[in-house]
Amino acid sequence: MSRAHNFSAGPGALPEPVLRRVQEELLEWRTARASVMEISHRDKVFVELAEKAEADLREILGVPANYKVLFLQGGATTQFALLPMNLAAPGQAADYVVTGAWGEKAAKEAKTLCGVKIAASSEAQNFTTVPDVASWKLSDDAAFLHVTPNETIHGVEFYDLPAASAAVVADVSSTILSRPLDVSKYGVLYAGAQKNIGPSGITVMIVREDLLARQPRPLPQILNYKAHADNGSMLNTPPTFAWYVSALVFEWIKGEGGLAAIGARNQRKAQALYAAIDGSGGFYTNKVDPRYRSWMNVPFVLPNAELDSPFLKGAEAAGLLGLKGHRAVGGMRASIYNATGEAAVAALIEYMGEFQRKHG
Ligand SMILES: *Cc1c(COP(=O)(O)O)cnc(C)c1O
Repeated sequence: MSRAHNFSAGPGALPEPVLRRVQEELLEWRTARASVMEISHRDKVFVELAEKAEADLREILGVPANYKVLFLQGGATTQFALLPMNLAAPGQAADYVVTGAWGEKAAKEAKTLCGVKIAASSEAQNFTTVPDVASWKLSDDAAFLHVTPNETIHGVEFYDLPAASAAVVADVSSTILSRPLDVSKYGVLYAGAQKNIGPSGITVMIVREDLLARQPRPLPQILNYKAHADNGSMLNTPPTFAWYVSALVFEWIKGEGGLAAIGARNQRKAQALYAAIDGSGGFYTNKVDPRYRSWMNVPFVLPNAELDSPFLKGAEAAGLLGLKGHRAVGGMRASIYNATGEAAVAALIEYMGEFQRKHG
């Protein structure tokens, strides 16, 4: 058995050089004479790593100086609840743009804590497109505007934003570090690590300082973003191993040429896969509006659902893992995050061609 090409939606593939490095230094990390997992997060050598991770992430994404970078826990889902607590006063409302299942969940969770106005939704189109920005119904007094730039389940990705609005809060769990991004257009960017950053268990948040200063209601320290920022994301024991692996991924991205190079590669991967789908004469279909097709998550269906099981079985035998689509959409989904390279996409395209010749 050998490592397969991994198309898992999350936790997803990690770069092989990163995994090898973890393996090499697992027992004795740097000068610690112990594993990185076995030392205090306040140990000088760990604090150095944490600082380097933040500096590298800032460099890779071009994070402006008036933003804090937080390393939190609880995944993106916990932030669905913490965002309204930290940014909206009781009774205040926030605007949500819903372009897929994750944005829908974020809005639903926020409803327990603040008013929620759906500024735009593509639910009537089965989340296959993004409502034109000009049609978004924005409130004048919204606490923030929440968007999901890449909907991981529906495979819809967009970066259009209104010229003026409340602070934009973006769930970038499945698109962060996949291409260059203008951080200054957003008030908050947040992401669970397990798609493009590192292992599950750590959540990255990039937040503009004036938003941290809001403090709209009294909160326990552990739920308060500002308290995390004031304590260097070490208010309590952070997920040190996940932080360490994420730091290695940031170094790997720099070594690959940064987000310009990574983004160009991701665009080539996505273009090749969509071209194969569109060129299959209708055997494979992706229903997403071509303007908003995701570079990271490519859902597609076969001519009938009876073919799903043989497709997946054959894929596994061919060394292609994690292709089963989300139950909400059905069919297949190829998640082609940074660590799933061009060779993996080429192998998938070849397999799709073979399968079609046999069953088409
Ligand atoms: C995976 C994902 C989530 C859920 O993340 P958790 O870390 O499991 O809470 C939320 N939003 C998006 C866009 C995702 O891709």
